[in-house]
Amino acid sequence: MFIGHFGIGFGARAAAPRASLGTLFLAAQFLDLLWAALLLAGVERVRIEVGATAVMPLVAEHYPYSHSLLAAAGWALLLGLAYRFLRGDGRGAWIVALAVASHWFLDVIVHRPDLPLYPGSAVLWGLTFWDSLPATLALELALFCGGVWFYLRATRPRDRIGSWGLAGLAGLLLLIYAGNLFGPPPPSVEAIGWVGQLQWLLVLSGYWVDAHRCNRSVPGVPLA
Ligand SMILES: [Zn+2]
Repeated sequence: MFIGHFGIGFGARAAAPRASLGTLFLAAQFLDLLWAALLLAGVERVRIEVGATAVMPLVAEHYPYSHSLLAAAGWALLLGLAYRFLRGDGRGAWIVALAVASHWFLDVIVHRPDLPLYPGSAVLWGLTFWDSLPATLALELALFCGGVWFYLRATRPRDRIGSWGLAGLAGLLLLIYAGNLFGPPPPSVEAIGWVGQLQWLLVLSGYWVDAHRCNRSVPGVPLA
């Protein structure tokens, strides 16, 4: 899953008025950011196999530290606590932790049964929505559009960057997703790892766009 996770980041902003969109992107996509680094380090393994599923030509062979349920819960706790410590925003910390954990459950829907419950677990989960392009598109686009809608309802632009920057970021995410789905398979596992690192730029863009937007006032609710 790709833009579905970013959709969660956008949508989570409505529940965490003091958190930046960049932080929520980081949380929702943290397991994949970590995965890309662990692939480059040779700690986790993936195989490129055209036709592995209709949508994604990848077979995850070993990714217990980024993509087991237990590890996801641990990362969720760690990032939630780190955010609470750094920002002193208890409500936002819960949302950050939930966004990190959401990644695993959404991956379960689309992946082949390759998601372990804990490192070394023989039980592997996955509902393989990736076997159907229409089902994958419907799920990810619904999450993405729903998330952007919640974000637009919760925030308003302060200036032109706040509106055009947001449109550019949303467009860029859709473009990358189209490239993922309809472009050629990745040339190597190393390439997957390095392209994965580029997602940090999307996190930075989240901080940048969000800094040019502010919370909309909701009647009866004090502005954070
Ligand atoms: Zn993932």
